[in-house]
Amino acid sequence: LTADLTADAAVRADDRAHVFHSWSAQALIDPLPVAGGQGSTFWDYAGNSYLDFSSQLVNLNLGHQHPDLVQAIQKQAGRLATIQPSMANDVRGELARRISDVAPDGFEKVFFTNGGADANENAVRMARQFTGRRKVLSMYRSYHGNTTTAISLTGDPRRWANEPGDGSVAHFFGPYTYRSPFHSDSPEQETARALEHLEQTIVLEGAQTIAAVIIETVVGTNGVLVPPPGYLPGVRELCDKYGIVYIADEVMVGFGRIGEWFAFQAFDVVPDLVTFAKGVNSGYVPLGGVVISDRIAEHFDTVTFPGGLTYSGHPLACAAGVATFEVFERDGILERVRDLGQRVVEPALHEIARRHPSVGDVRGRGLFWAIELVRDRESREPLVPFNATGVDAAPVAAVMAAAKKGGVWPFSHFNRVHVAPPLVIEEEELVRGLDVIDGALHAADEYL
Ligand code: PLP
Repeated sequence: LTADLTADAAVRADDRAHVFHSWSAQALIDPLPVAGGQGSTFWDYAGNSYLDFSSQLVNLNLGHQHPDLVQAIQKQAGRLATIQPSMANDVRGELARRISDVAPDGFEKVFFTNGGADANENAVRMARQFTGRRKVLSMYRSYHGNTTTAISLTGDPRRWANEPGDGSVAHFFGPYTYRSPFHSDSPEQETARALEHLEQTIVLEGAQTIAAVIIETVVGTNGVLVPPPGYLPGVRELCDKYGIVYIADEVMVGFGRIGEWFAFQAFDVVPDLVTFAKGVNSGYVPLGGVVISDRIAEHFDTVTFPGGLTYSGHPLACAAGVATFEVFERDGILERVRDLGQRVVEPALHEIARRHPSVGDVRGRGLFWAIELVRDRESREPLVPFNATGVDAAPVAAVMAAAKKGGVWPFSHFNRVHVAPPLVIEEEELVRGLDVIDGALHAADEYL
């Protein structure tokens, strides 16, 4: 890689002067100018390259500049760059058909959105229309997006500045085996107690007022929390018992992240509505949507659905989605994710946990893992406090800095480092990146 410091300075100057960034105090950030990317690597203008261990925002499932996706977008741009949503379009129809083909029986229809937040907005709207009820239950420790309903549903600090919301959301605790809110000692007990808590929440909130429960199948940003056996089927039963729509938010985990088309397929459960975005086309062109069960879709056969978007089912985005299906099927991506997760990542992270006293827990599935850092393994006190910023966040910032210095770009959130590389990552790259993270964790051990 050659350095181009003139370009680096120019990109930085425009960015700092004019780009207003997400979730940030504008004067306190220093965004990395990125010059390019290929596969699991991206590089800056200063001659540094990074293994992308977070797939950008866990959207880049097929890596940077995948030739099939780039070509599909170019071809579509040459044929028909855009068409409004009330007309029929070949790639839009093909993508919807392919999505329903990999969904369970009884999911024939797809509503397309521009991303994950508006997928959740519209799923909630469908549930409200279908049930005639308004309230929605969601988990603490969740993220559902940044539009009004989605940020109210969110169970992390990002919703605080947007509160009070419209009063239609109530939060509950989901299972978290390592840090159980129910003081349970085993996954079985966690499942039983979490379900009892959910049922009490439903009853006390007024079952007849609740339209939907929305759950990230594997909680993403807030911890890579894999549900213990029986939990999601138990949620399904409660939803059936009380006439509540079960919405699975698969924005982060859908399309291969844990080695399934939809993550719920690994947990013996079928929701009523499934929201997706990110991995459906690796975010090459913004796209999200809702997969709708026939029961709910049929409600809107004769009743107008009160929602829509100018870019619903954008042809460039859908062309990249169709190409994604072709690549997944041709290259056996789901099998690859399961294999690499079980054979390479899981043992490597358990080995890392043995070596570093700062590692309290490692957990995940497929190519989606969290390393949870603690001050003390006995007490499980988090290495940095909940919602840490500035000096408080220094120990995790030190790990991230060491990883980046070693050429790996992971994702961190509070006291966790996440490993979520592109699903096309080479085994050699995966091993190298995990080695760098192993080395970087010495920076955390030093704070103990
Ligand atoms: N739901 C989940 C589980 C997510 O992880 C995200 C984004 O990170 C969203 C919803 C929101 O998606 P978007 O940023 O595309 O609106």
